[in-house]
Amino acid sequence: MNATLALLDSYFRSRRDFQRLRGSRLKAYQDQRARAVVAHAVARAPFYAQHYRQADLADWRTLPSVDKQLMMANFAAFNTHGIALSEAMEVALSAERCRDFRPTVRGLTVGLSSGTSGHRSLFLADRNEQARWVGVVLARLLPPFRLRGYTVTLFSQSGSNLYEDLRGRWIRFCHHDLATGIDAAVHCLNAEQPDLLCGPPSYLEMLAIRQTAGELRISPRKIVSVAEVLEPQVARALAESFGCPVFQIYQCTEGLIGISCPHGQLHLQEDIMASQFEPLGTTADAPATPVITDLWHRTLPIIRYRLNDVVTLSSEDCTCGSAFQVIENVAGRCDDVCEFLDANGSLKPIFPATLRRLILLADEAISDYEALQQHPSQLHVRVTVADGADPARLAESVENILMAGLREQGVVAPTIEVETGIIGPVEGKRRRIRKVGSTDARSSEIHDAATA
Ligand SMILES: [Zn+2]
Repeated sequence: MNATLALLDSYFRSRRDFQRLRGSRLKAYQDQRARAVVAHAVARAPFYAQHYRQADLADWRTLPSVDKQLMMANFAAFNTHGIALSEAMEVALSAERCRDFRPTVRGLTVGLSSGTSGHRSLFLADRNEQARWVGVVLARLLPPFRLRGYTVTLFSQSGSNLYEDLRGRWIRFCHHDLATGIDAAVHCLNAEQPDLLCGPPSYLEMLAIRQTAGELRISPRKIVSVAEVLEPQVARALAESFGCPVFQIYQCTEGLIGISCPHGQLHLQEDIMASQFEPLGTTADAPATPVITDLWHRTLPIIRYRLNDVVTLSSEDCTCGSAFQVIENVAGRCDDVCEFLDANGSLKPIFPATLRRLILLADEAISDYEALQQHPSQLHVRVTVADGADPARLAESVENILMAGLREQGVVAPTIEVETGIIGPVEGKRRRIRKVGSTDARSSEIHDAATA
């Protein structure tokens, strides 16, 4: 199949299967696809042949899991083309330096996650795999077909050779580097007038300020958040500024996990990626960490791959009619779950959603926040407050509400420092809650839509 056919096939399949696959039919579909990927991996990737030597291959849902560390340590044996890590890395790094977004290794596209150096992960994909990805995203995000087509503008860290192919009559695709200054971006967007505006929320927020100020004058039909955690208060602010709904794509370097449906719920893409979940707590509604199996990619097989993300699943079905599981929220990375001491001196995890809720609850004048933990008995919080608010009173209120909230969770007297001030533009990926000193070697960066 050539890439155009693969794109169309995946587009039409995705439109059909979102509603059609459910229950035992979905399970049978995943079983059939996963078994084929497992068989291919065992035949062509020596790592998997060795890793599964004592396993029952038909029972793929219980195969030994893998993670980023294992993948990076065994890269040449992990991919099915025998491409060495050094070879792929050299091409990816040199492409990044030259801002040349068409790096290929032996005909395969190579990409690099935007993590911190030393913890970055690589992906490899052939043209059909990339085309399939585009087919799914278009099928699930574009409004219904219309003759004059749509303009899609994406701001992302890196481009892709695939985007060149997307410039057709039906889709006018514009890609800009995140290094584009906001003035220049406003200028481009006023000319492009996108129907769909996609980018990381921290960048979209800067554009929203210009839209509110009247300098940016666009009326998109949808905003699509990619590459970073989309916090609910940010989603609301973006929707208000641009006057349209905000959707999100949840994906990591290793693959596409979730896309918002027309009803605004983030659904697992269960026909593309089979996700299993390991709970991070004992209660039924505790957050969980995904273990993913890509049902299509064979160049770099992702089978029972443990991510480093914290997500909360919804217990409700979506009213859109799809049975694909709804993700209530993607909170970030496991490494950024802060830990505090309880009365026994044990570490107690406090999930990002809890800290966010407490901080934003403290006062309506708080428009943004960051929290940094360097030690289990400490938390440093920075909040942006609206003009006219009293910073000292606000800081005290944040401290009090955090103290009370943490105490309720069994945490014993941490030191909480609160600072007020404007949180300026952020270099790189925005992480509002961070725990430093944690290892992120196993981390899956929630990654640019650009590069999967
Ligand atoms: Zn839905």
